[in-house]
Amino acid sequence: MADTQAEYRKLPSVDALLRRAEVAALLADFGPEQVADALRALLDESRAAIQKGGDAPDEAALIARLVEYLQQRSQPSLRGVINATGVIIHTNLGRAPLSTAARQAIQSAATGYNNLEYDIDGGERGSRHTHARELLRQLTGAEDALVVNNNAGAVFLVLSALCVGKEVIISRGELVEIGGGFRIPDVLRQSGAKLVEVGTTNRTHPRDFAQAIGEETGALMRVHASNFQQIGFVTKPSLAELVQIAQSVEWPGPPPVIDDLGSGTLLDTAPFGLSPEPTVQQSIAAGADIVTFSGDKLLGAPQAGLIVGKAELIDSIRRHPLTRALRVDKLILAGLEATLQAYRRGKAVEEIPVWQMIAASPESLRARAENWRERLAGAGLSAEVLSGQSTVGGGSLPGETLPTFLLALTPPHPDATAARLRQANPPVVGRIQQERLLFDPRTVLPEQEEALLSALIAAVGQP
Ligand SMILES: *Cc1c(COP(=O)(O)O)cnc(C)c1O
Repeated sequence: MADTQAEYRKLPSVDALLRRAEVAALLADFGPEQVADALRALLDESRAAIQKGGDAPDEAALIARLVEYLQQRSQPSLRGVINATGVIIHTNLGRAPLSTAARQAIQSAATGYNNLEYDIDGGERGSRHTHARELLRQLTGAEDALVVNNNAGAVFLVLSALCVGKEVIISRGELVEIGGGFRIPDVLRQSGAKLVEVGTTNRTHPRDFAQAIGEETGALMRVHASNFQQIGFVTKPSLAELVQIAQSVEWPGPPPVIDDLGSGTLLDTAPFGLSPEPTVQQSIAAGADIVTFSGDKLLGAPQAGLIVGKAELIDSIRRHPLTRALRVDKLILAGLEATLQAYRRGKAVEEIPVWQMIAASPESLRARAENWRERLAGAGLSAEVLSGQSTVGGGSLPGETLPTFLLALTPPHPDATAARLRQANPPVVGRIQQERLLFDPRTVLPEQEEALLSALIAAVGQP
């Protein structure tokens, strides 16, 4: 170990490095403090390497490492990812990508001041709750509407505002866990409502609800089984039946019927070859007093919880103190309004990415996958195009798939290749199935194709 000391002495000082022209150029971009911190960290790293018997790096190598280090450190934690999984509303990958109109609206709301809580006509204080309200009323047929932070918050708020200390009757088959620890029975208890379970896991009859109604009843509740399917010997009352049961309560008057649709959709899913997901309009037409649904699932808008229903109930929810805690900001309202406008114009399928992806034809997906295969062949990589399935995801249409075509690669070490793809910029997330890497064009935005192909060539081209 005689030359360890000699190697240490070869290491330049932080000051000497800071005086180098290449480093001076970095000072403007990253700031002197960050550059000096990075140099200290890299020199520490080099000393540790020398101690283990390594050589001192030369200055050029140190500076190259410095640039890489600073670039890595200054990457935002939240960044774009290429979703090649074929799961359209991918909760881990940010759920719904937004339409061009929504993105523009968000940018313009972010750029200056706005009338978030200002009544332009009257020149006085206004309410943020006016903004998407009229559109939601028109689109759903509901008397009134309220937007909050997310649907979990919407459900909690509705129960807190309408059912504290009262009983909420719900079928045992609907005491579901949505994911991320959101369990309906827990939310109910947290809100201060009392859970009354009726029926059995697989079968609940209208009479089960009718028999459970009493003086303490605060609401009848239906929760959409978003992420699982029950098949076989299964039954539960329709929403219309629940409404009828509620309406028949003469004293102390009909309890509200609350319908948590989860994803919720304004468009019929059946024309796309999917089974019909209940629409918000159907729930309102069936007489639900309150309907809650998510902004960033099938609606294709930013994260939000939408509450629509009877004016009197929405009004008391709006005045509940929790509404202030769950309010949405101007960026969300801007993106939501622009998205809802697309539905009003009858342009949702053309303009909203979630619906564009649902509507993409197998032929168009095959053409894209074939094009990818040819591009890779041009770079000397062999791949296949296979038929496969995409899913809608996001707690909607469980077990349902859309036919698609997949680009399939069979690298010698699929896990290692997948890991390299996740290190690409932007990271690429696909599927691994039976030693194959699969990439579904359905969820890859057209403007991401070049980045995807470069990442594939770089990751698979490596040994
Ligand atoms: C997804 C979902 C929620 C939660 O909605 P978020 O927008 O994720 O907060 C609540 N209820 C049901 C039935 C759901 O599917």
